[in-house]
Amino acid sequence: MVLNSGSSSLKFQVIATDLERIKEYKDERLCRGEVERLGGEAIVSFQAGQQPKQKFTAPLRDISAALDYLVRYISSDKSGVTDIHSTGDIHAVGHRIVHGGEMFKESALIDEKVLNGIVDCIDLAPLHNPNNIRGILAARDLFGSRVPQIAVFDTSFHHTLPEQAYLYAIPYHLYRRHKIRRYGFHGTSHRYVAFRYRALRGLTREQTNIITFHLGNGCSADAIKGGNSVDTSMGMTPLEGLVMGTRSGDLDPAIVNLIANKEGMSVSEVETLLNTQSGLLGVSGLTNDMRGLESELAEHDDRRVRLAIEVFCYRARKYIGAFLACMQGADAVVFTGGIGENSPDIRARICAGMNWAGLKIDDARNQQTVGREGLISTDDSKLLAYAIPTDEELLIARDTVRVIEGQPHPS
Ligand code: ADP
Repeated sequence: MVLNSGSSSLKFQVIATDLERIKEYKDERLCRGEVERLGGEAIVSFQAGQQPKQKFTAPLRDISAALDYLVRYISSDKSGVTDIHSTGDIHAVGHRIVHGGEMFKESALIDEKVLNGIVDCIDLAPLHNPNNIRGILAARDLFGSRVPQIAVFDTSFHHTLPEQAYLYAIPYHLYRRHKIRRYGFHGTSHRYVAFRYRALRGLTREQTNIITFHLGNGCSADAIKGGNSVDTSMGMTPLEGLVMGTRSGDLDPAIVNLIANKEGMSVSEVETLLNTQSGLLGVSGLTNDMRGLESELAEHDDRRVRLAIEVFCYRARKYIGAFLACMQGADAVVFTGGIGENSPDIRARICAGMNWAGLKIDDARNQQTVGREGLISTDDSKLLAYAIPTDEELLIARDTVRVIEGQPHPS
């Protein structure tokens, strides 16, 4: 079972996998879904295999109640999941953990030491790690200590960043004292699409030199050289870097104080504004949803909507240039996440005018590659472009198996 525990939601999947299935790519998704609006009448979305999605409500006060309810539901005849009949049919739990700090360089079996380490990282991700910990404790309560639980960190893929990429140019003692540095996030997604890229091209890990874009509600870019993450756009927190649905991404830090003074807000209120009222939503004044913006642009050619899309794409393109310089050239740009997988228009806008770098998008291939993996650049493009759907849950499930079996991670 794969769990992603948020402040008021619990995303879950149950995946049947083992070392043999991983090798043959025969992992099987038994069910997936999400419980939203925990605390009151929660909304449960549920899908068993390829069957139609179900949606219903249930009074669920917290993650623990939601997990209990879900496992009961999955085990029942109503769910349509035929392979799970009781709690005992869940053999392990893999958790998405947002922040692993400098301590966790790879996925880990959760014992007391690892749990304490995740607690120690609360300072670095006060909004996320406490919820992740609630998920771990809930699973421990429900399944007991005999069912192994594994932590898969959003940050750990970026542990290979060199000092020059992760240090901020602020007094060094602030790094020493408070661990203020770039960590990067979306590591599981960047790692997964890098793995799929090399599978598609028949390359080794060492031959993997790419720039990956995870463009969802949160957005980040990653420079992957020789299979390792060598620079990334998100920083100490997920606020830095690309323009996102509601986050500003990069900005002059002096603006924080300026907004606070001019608008009579506290610094933490400004931080909330930069996280929740900015980005595509802030510029367009309309929505954080790229699909909504694209249809609005097509129908009404609204100026602020156009601006939001232009700022978003321009900033992403800027990172291609920066990362090409950082990693002395790359072989491909890979797009993933809701926007990266599904919007040929945004991919084309980001790559526009990149001929000088050998990047040419093939219009037909780009248009046809929606929600599936494929090459979207022309045959004579020197810098290739791919769209590759991410699957963080599958990677978490596979890591869970590998950690339990004591197998080294391939990436
Ligand atoms: P999250 O980061 O929350 O997991 P997703 O990866 O699902 O989010 O990405 C959500 C974003 O993807 C939204 O901006 C949504 O509008 C966008 N998106 C999904 N489908 C399309 C599409 N067909 N065209 C354009 N944007 C899309």
